[in-house]
Amino acid sequence: MAQQKFQTEVGQLLHLITHSLYTHKEIFLRELISNASDALDKLRHLTLTDDALKTFDFDPKVSIEFQDGDEPKLILSDSGIGMNKQDLKDNLGTIARSGTKNFLSNLSGDEKKDSQLIGQFGVGFYSCFMVADKVDVTTKKVGEDEAFLWTSDGHSGFEIKKDVRKENGTTITLYLNEEGKEYANRWQIDSLVKKYSDHIDFPIFISYEDIEYDKEGKEKSRAPKTEQINDAKAFWTRSKNELEKKDYQEFYKSISNDRDDPFDWVHFHAEGALEFTLLFYIPKTASPDIFRTDYQAGVKLYVNRVFITDDEKELLPVWLRFVKGIIDSSDLPLNVSREILQQNRIMSKIKTNAVKKILEKLNDIAKNKDKYAEFFLQFGRLIKEGVYQDFEHKDALTDLLRFKSTKQEGLVSLKDYVDNMNSEQKTIYYITGQNEASLRNSPLLEMYTKKNVEVLILDDEIDEIIISSVPKYDEKELKSVNRSGAADDFSEESDKESEKSTKPVLKKIKKVLGDKVKDVKMSNRLSDSPSCIVADENDPTSQMQEILKSMGQTDMPEIKPILEINPNHEIVEKLKNMTRQKAFDDIAWLLYEQALIQEGVTLDDPSGFVKRLNNAISNNL
Ligand code: ADP
Repeated sequence: MAQQKFQTEVGQLLHLITHSLYTHKEIFLRELISNASDALDKLRHLTLTDDALKTFDFDPKVSIEFQDGDEPKLILSDSGIGMNKQDLKDNLGTIARSGTKNFLSNLSGDEKKDSQLIGQFGVGFYSCFMVADKVDVTTKKVGEDEAFLWTSDGHSGFEIKKDVRKENGTTITLYLNEEGKEYANRWQIDSLVKKYSDHIDFPIFISYEDIEYDKEGKEKSRAPKTEQINDAKAFWTRSKNELEKKDYQEFYKSISNDRDDPFDWVHFHAEGALEFTLLFYIPKTASPDIFRTDYQAGVKLYVNRVFITDDEKELLPVWLRFVKGIIDSSDLPLNVSREILQQNRIMSKIKTNAVKKILEKLNDIAKNKDKYAEFFLQFGRLIKEGVYQDFEHKDALTDLLRFKSTKQEGLVSLKDYVDNMNSEQKTIYYITGQNEASLRNSPLLEMYTKKNVEVLILDDEIDEIIISSVPKYDEKELKSVNRSGAADDFSEESDKESEKSTKPVLKKIKKVLGDKVKDVKMSNRLSDSPSCIVADENDPTSQMQEILKSMGQTDMPEIKPILEINPNHEIVEKLKNMTRQKAFDDIAWLLYEQALIQEGVTLDDPSGFVKRLNNAISNNL
């Protein structure tokens, strides 16, 4: 059969891993063993659920052989499900994983950087081309008659031919190159398997020649030997006491495609009425597909150590999609389908417990402010999603929210805020907007600063949506500083005189601005600035309008802001006695436009603004 080309992305991946210095080449063995273990998992599942295979004599194992010398080879076999011709074509020649594929189609062109980044995605089977010039895959799928040989040198493409093979499973032969010849060695293989694959649930055997020497050092006898290297006990079924930090770290890497250590983990065995084991990891960084709709599920489901699925997104609530790990229960049926899973009462109990355990872990992490901030920086958005979507856990998740603040360093919880409130304060205040720096300098905060009242700074674009679903915390109302009326709580004994003399000015400004504003009001929140823009109590703020627009809502009625004027500001004082209409108009517009600029809104008529500004300046010179 003629040679077939690799999918473009596979070509790019192979180029990256073979042409750039790959410092972790030894992981190829972990990747191959992990594929073998998956193939055994799949067959074990079939032998338990498929009637045609109920009597099948299944002897699950992985065997490793090697040949040193001039033509070093490493041969890895499994007695797993095997592949037919179509499987070979689909699996070893394309990349199915969306994250990896996406990464590859958006390469930066900086080879060094790209090759470092690719580590995050997991290179899978193709990693064997780091250590081999040529790879043969001989395989027969269980229940089928034909066997096939897939062969490739890792750059020009691959070939698939018929092969002769009686037993189901797969044998992979690596023709080791200079980089790889060190792996044709019993001790190297032994130590790599112990390091990366000790937790695999199936026995891994190594075959080698046992050579005995006499006293003079001459070879006395040579006998082939086979030895089991690992314990073959599913990692998560082990007792916590038996396991060390580095065991958890290695296991994480073997299930996650992540080269980095995990951020933290939870391991829990439930015994009694319902038996299950949970092992969940929080990664250090979010996987690149986490905000894509076709993200890869991170949790695998096992029933009594038999692999069921790694493609079920409902095992945990959606906001927990950053969690990687395993759920194993002996109380679920083996042939559990997606539909059954979604209605199964046992599964729903396990899910409830799983969320509880993860929340406990997060609360535990939150005791360490810096550590939690690290977590929140990566996954805070998902916690916010949870507050919005997961009614059952809303309160717990609200406690896990963190915000920037005008008064405290770092990130603040709502509890921190409430603990810091003075006795007269009844409300929790926040300001929303796109840009932290301009929010911190916003005129809307002047009164709060003056009164020494803390304001939470919500500068993430989804904050405004989230926070609207938290009307109260600890009996205290949450109020947006961006809205009209928020500062009423602070109004001092107002100066009746100044109020009276300002009213006509407000009326005149309103007349000048016409339908640009909903209203022009006296402000009790400003101290240094002459004006500010706010949204009416129940209107979406200007930022929310932008978000709604970006979400495709184009038919919104135009929502006008309220212009607030500081009655005590010098400019406003001067306006009271201004008789020249033209100058008054300019200043009225300028008060409106400067407030918009401070809100981060782009002016409709920037050149008009500049003209008015220059008029005002030259009138003063
Ligand atoms: P991943 O394992 O992450 O899916 P790989 O590139 O390692 O990516 O493997 C691609 C696919 O090839 C696997 O998903 C599996 O379907 C198939 N495959 C690889 N090795 C084996 C094997 N030993 N037995 C059966 N199928 C295999």
